[in-house]
Amino acid sequence: LNRRLAEFGTTIFAEMSALAVTTGAINLGQGFPDTDGPEEIREAAVRALRDGRGNQYPPGPGVPELRTAVADHQRRRYGLSYDPDTEVLVTAGATEAIAAALLALVEPGDEVVALEPYYDSYAACIAMAGGTRVPVTLRPHEGAFRLDLDELRDAVTDRTRLLLLNTPHNPTGTVLTRGELAAIAELAVERDLLVVTDEVYEHLVFDGAEHIPLASFPGMRERTVSIGSAGKTFSFTGWKVGWVTAAPALLTAVRSAKQYLTYVSAGPFQYAVAEALALPDSYFAAYRQDMEAKRNLLAAGLAEAGLGVYRPAGTYFVTTDIRPLGESDGIAFCRSLPERAGVVAVPNAVFYDHREAGAPFVRFAFCKRVPVLQEAVQRLKALA
Ligand code: PMP
Ligand code: GLN
Repeated sequence: LNRRLAEFGTTIFAEMSALAVTTGAINLGQGFPDTDGPEEIREAAVRALRDGRGNQYPPGPGVPELRTAVADHQRRRYGLSYDPDTEVLVTAGATEAIAAALLALVEPGDEVVALEPYYDSYAACIAMAGGTRVPVTLRPHEGAFRLDLDELRDAVTDRTRLLLLNTPHNPTGTVLTRGELAAIAELAVERDLLVVTDEVYEHLVFDGAEHIPLASFPGMRERTVSIGSAGKTFSFTGWKVGWVTAAPALLTAVRSAKQYLTYVSAGPFQYAVAEALALPDSYFAAYRQDMEAKRNLLAAGLAEAGLGVYRPAGTYFVTTDIRPLGESDGIAFCRSLPERAGVVAVPNAVFYDHREAGAPFVRFAFCKRVPVLQEAVQRLKALA
């Protein structure tokens, strides 16, 4: 492994999912649903395969049907208008979108400001691009992990090229508010920054919280690369279909990098995801309600098991504090949890540069069937 990647070994998700397999524990570590997305969308993928749509290299930027569907989705939900031909790019999941955006936009030596804890691929992709990451830590405050806007402002220097945002935020479940986003937008305009915003959990916001795309704030459309994912939006994480929307200059840059990463993304699934994005609002509402009920179940169960619970406003993760159990090292806790309780979770510390700030926090995924969550809660109660 070269020096840029030396600090990155196996991802925590691979490590913890492997532990779940070898111990037979319930896997609330890696975030993937245990119920597949809508049957009619699976049928749409089968039809595409059978009819020979997408079995050979699809167009580089993605099939026109999906680019149009992405543009329609952004317009319908957010009033954002993007040209499917010049402002939409289909990627191999949001993961490739993040990689391509950073590789395309970061010069070696540039600083990239990112919220900490950060999704694991951010750090590795910033490193591959030769950039330097500058973490701004979300801190626990009144039951949620909050952004300190002064800290964010102070993190921006003359070498800052880009802000890398994530809302709803993995792993904390924080959803940035309109006021916070407005302040971030002002900062980006004032300091002339680009923003890459990972909004893969855009449809998973709870308790009436609202997801507002950063690109919709004044001055942001021209400087923002927005990222979405069919994995999270339709429960098809194995399909690896994601998308980018951005103004033409930025989109062209990201597309240039994507060309040499995967060239194109898998064809038949693109047609199916195009149909999925056109599902009626009732699909999105039912999906959100289902996840909210699961959030409620797991959050209550974890509290009963004696953990400190940060009730998430979005995503499919609950972050907990293990100190009420008399523990303080989340990494050690997660390594021993399958043995002790038959449950797998993920230590938030691995998403921090300031490891000590993340040490006592542990993330549990609730995108699982109700009986699975109930069984996990029963097992965890044995810890108390
Ligand atoms: N960003 C965040 C915040 C995520 O949690 C994930 C994983 N679901 C991704 C990006 C990657 O998405 P995909 O599976 O579409 O590559
Ligand atoms: N995004 C998922 C999570 O946070 C996992 C994706 C992955 O394994 N790379 O759990």
